[in-house]
Amino acid sequence: MDTYDVIVIGTGAGGGMAIKTLCEAGLKVCALNAGRQLDPAKDFRHHRLPYDMKFRGFDSPERRAQSVGYMDSEYVAPDAWEHEIAYATAEGTRWTWPRSNAVGGKTNFWGRSAARMAEIDFKAASRDGFDVDWPISYDEIAPYYTRVEEMIGVASTIQNRTSNPDGRYLPPISFRCLDHIIEAGAKKSGIPYLPDRIAQLTKEHQGHPPCHYCGNCTEGCDVGAFFSSPYFLLPTAHATGNLELRTNAVAREILVDSDGRAKGVAYIDRTNRAEREVYAKAVVVAASCATTAQIMLNSKSRHWPSGIANSSGQLGRNLCDHLYGTSGYGYLPQLLGQPSFPDNVSTATVAWLPRWQNLDNPKQEKFIRGYSFYPGGGCDVFPSYYDDIEGFGASYRAEIKRRYPTPVSFTVQAPSQRSDQNFVDIDPIKKDVFGNPQVRFHFAWDENTMKMWEHSVQVCKELFHNMGGVYQGHGEPESPGWSLHETGTCRMGNDPQHFVTNRFGQTHDVPNLYACDASVLLNCTDKTTTLSVLAFSLRTSEYIVNQFKAGSQTSTVPSRG
Ligand SMILES: Cc1cc2nc3c(=O)[nH]c(=O)nc-3n(C[C@H](O)[C@H](O)[C@H](O)COP(=O)(O)OP(=O)(O)OC[C@H]3O[C@@H](n4cnc5c(N)ncnc54)[C@H](O)[C@@H]3O)c2cc1C
Ligand code: SF4
Repeated sequence: MDTYDVIVIGTGAGGGMAIKTLCEAGLKVCALNAGRQLDPAKDFRHHRLPYDMKFRGFDSPERRAQSVGYMDSEYVAPDAWEHEIAYATAEGTRWTWPRSNAVGGKTNFWGRSAARMAEIDFKAASRDGFDVDWPISYDEIAPYYTRVEEMIGVASTIQNRTSNPDGRYLPPISFRCLDHIIEAGAKKSGIPYLPDRIAQLTKEHQGHPPCHYCGNCTEGCDVGAFFSSPYFLLPTAHATGNLELRTNAVAREILVDSDGRAKGVAYIDRTNRAEREVYAKAVVVAASCATTAQIMLNSKSRHWPSGIANSSGQLGRNLCDHLYGTSGYGYLPQLLGQPSFPDNVSTATVAWLPRWQNLDNPKQEKFIRGYSFYPGGGCDVFPSYYDDIEGFGASYRAEIKRRYPTPVSFTVQAPSQRSDQNFVDIDPIKKDVFGNPQVRFHFAWDENTMKMWEHSVQVCKELFHNMGGVYQGHGEPESPGWSLHETGTCRMGNDPQHFVTNRFGQTHDVPNLYACDASVLLNCTDKTTTLSVLAFSLRTSEYIVNQFKAGSQTSTVPSRG
């Protein structure tokens, strides 16, 4: 029987950080990952233009029909994104859910925007009376943010803003012409336009090479110039000799001993559908928010009839997400006919418009809390404005080229607020191909989030005016799930009756079971989540190491060997 100190389910941001920290501390770790290990040389098809690809980057019609989004294209191996494990939605719920279950999870392809959350986020309830404060203060988590930034390399500047605490930064990505034009317009609107916090290396960092701005980030980086778990975390863990990584291992449930404590994990070997078990003194679930809840809800036993560590009834509840959508798009006539060169650094988020609402007065706007924007634009590979232009032949091509550097758009990042209506549970009937009961989403945007969206559309109109741009319209809110910044389902809090995990991510009910992903975060904010996932996972992992040192992770399973 294989028995480890800790089993970690998931190898993405949360799992990767846990694996590295636990292995470095000398604990024997078995990591389970639902998919295979990618090989960047074969699986990322970089440095090619669409016309170099058989299907112009879109892939075959059959595969295109199955694509989960722009990142799931001919530029990556078909199985880099999950197509096999199904999920369910309740009646009336839309939920779009791109998942990468390859080793490293979504960090292989993420957008890299990496800002700290702030005291104004953790104590938001005290300011505006909605929901509850987080059980930790900014000062407690700040040292972990600093260590994570030093580990992964984040490019930005010191910005001195209440809602965006500053950290340790590499030099920022330089502004382009269009950024300077938007910055001037934003200034007139009283809106900050600043370098994003981005985990993309602007210089060599901790042995990782600097970015060469090929622009392929959301199809994976072949040199490891942005943070991902396989480049930045897992190699260190492997080097300790303390890690056994089991790939294609789809965790089904957490096994318990006669006292109801975690004793191991049952999983399916994806290659042959065989059922397997592995045992440990402690279990960390880091399968990414909703899947973490799914695995725990599916872990029913005599001790835990409604799912492991669910005596509060809060497991799976409090699901939050970011509303994404194009709040405004158009073009900058100032740049018409300017030389076209790849100034886009493609999918890099060079700049952001961090939250400026409700900072001094929490009820200044018609909504509580706040949102941010990411600008997009410049010389992208494909001229998205092609159907705005009439004509054909040489004059059409000339106009396409004249407009090439000019497009601009703004994506809003508006957090939903906790609601009893938004949660995941287990579908009573549907099972996935491995026989695991499917996770089911119940979700709708709340009124506050929709007010943010409407506000953002009006702000964009004014912004286009102030930057001398041509406003052409706005999009609609994307489907929930699309931002991939879901939080909640195992929220942390001091009261076991209302929270699944304590302030260290340890479940209240089962002292040797931990969650190390965004499931423990109380809600979304105007910032992305991954930097916080990393910082909270680091903190939880060091707490686990201390629990081992104190001898409290005793197990009733046989010892190793
Ligand atoms: C295109 C894109 C852009 C993004 N942009 C940003 C951004 O700019 N900023 C930001 O902060 N975040 C961004 N994100 C989100 C970011 O990737 C996630 O926040 C982050 O990866 C979450 O870490 P995680 O460990 O919770 O999940 P993941 O990184 O997804 O890892 C989950 C892990 O769990 C494993 N797993 C799942 N189910 C099972 C199972 N049953 N058994 C075993 N293993 C399992 C998976 O194989 C995977 O290894 C983006 C994501 C994408 C795809
Ligand atoms: S732009 Fe930079 S970080 Fe992105 S894939 Fe290319 S080298 Fe890697």
